Amino acid sequence: MNPTALITGASRGIGRGIALELARLGWDLIVNYARNAAAAAETIEACLNAAQTQSRNIQVRSFQADIASADDREKLVAFAENSVGSLDLLVNNAGVAPLVRSDLLEATEESFDRLIATNLKGPFLLTQRVARAMIAAPQPPSTSGSRGRKIIFISSVSAYTASVNRGDYCISKAGVGMLTQLFAARLAEHGIGVFEIRPGIIATDMTHAVQAKYDALIQGGLTPIRRWGTPEDVAKAVAAIASDLLPFSTGEVLNVDGGFHMRTL
Ligand code: NAP
Repeated sequence: MNPTALITGASRGIGRGIALELARLGWDLIVNYARNAAAAAETIEACLNAAQTQSRNIQVRSFQADIASADDREKLVAFAENSVGSLDLLVNNAGVAPLVRSDLLEATEESFDRLIATNLKGPFLLTQRVARAMIAAPQPPSTSGSRGRKIIFISSVSAYTASVNRGDYCISKAGVGMLTQLFAARLAEHGIGVFEIRPGIIATDMTHAVQAKYDALIQGGLTPIRRWGTPEDVAKAVAAIASDLLPFSTGEVLNVDGGFHMRTL
C-alpha cells in the first residue's frame, strides 16, 4: 500500500514540484487547486510519468477546492477520505500574494481579509480537520519508507522579514509559523510530526511579476547562494520529512532560501 498525501495548491509552482517529488517516491496523491483545472490535469500527468520513471505504480487525483471556504475544505477532506482513505501527509502549500502591493499606510481591509483567509485561516482549519482524522485512523503499513504521519506548512521568509509593501502577506506567514508550533505541540503525543518550510525567492508564477527586481537583488548578493530557488528545492525538503529522515524532530523550521536567513558581517 502506498503512503498518501494531500497537497493544497498543487496545480502549479511549488505545490506541483512537491507532487512530482512525492510521485517519484511512490506516494498516492490528492492534488488540490483553486481554479486552474487544466494545470491540475498537467500536474497529474507529470506525476504519473515521474512515478513511471521509478517503476512506481501510484494513484493521483485532483480536486477543486478553495481552502478559504469551509464548505470546500469539508468536500476536499471527504474526497480524500473516499478516494485514498486516511492521509499520511498533509502539505499546506496553497497561498496567495496580495493582488496589489500597497504601502502599509494604504493597505486595504479587503486585501488583509483575503490574505488571512487563504494563507492562515484555511490552513489552520484544514489542518485541524485532517489532524482529527489522522488521530482516528489506524496506522497502515507502507512500502515507501514513511512511518509516522506528518503535516507540513509552507510559510515564507516573509514570516520574519518585514516588507512594508505587503504587510498583509508577512502577517499571514508569521501566523503560519505559530500554527506550526501549536500543531507540533498538540500532535506529538499522537505521533504526528509537524514542520514548517520557509522558502526564499522561488521561481513560480507568484514571483514572475517581480522577476527583474529579484534578479538584480540576487546578483547583488542578497542570498549567499546566488541563484533563484526552484520548486524542486522546496520539494526536496518535503521529501526528506515525508521519508522520515527527521524522526526526532517536530515544530522544526527548514529554511529553503539559499542562506537568506543568515546574518553575515
Ligand atoms: P503560485 O505559483 O501562485 O501557485 C499557487 C497555487 O496555489 C496554485 O496551485 C493555486 O491554484 C493554488 N491556490 C491559490 N489560492 C488557493 C485557494 N484559495 N485554495 C486552493 N488553492 C489555491 O504560488 P507558489 O509560488 O507556488 O507558492 C506556493 C506557496 O509557497 C504559497 O503559500 C506561497 O506563499 C509560498 N511561497 C512562495 C514563494 C515564492 O517565491 N514563489 C516564497 C515563499 C513562500 P490555481 O492554479 O487553481 O490558481
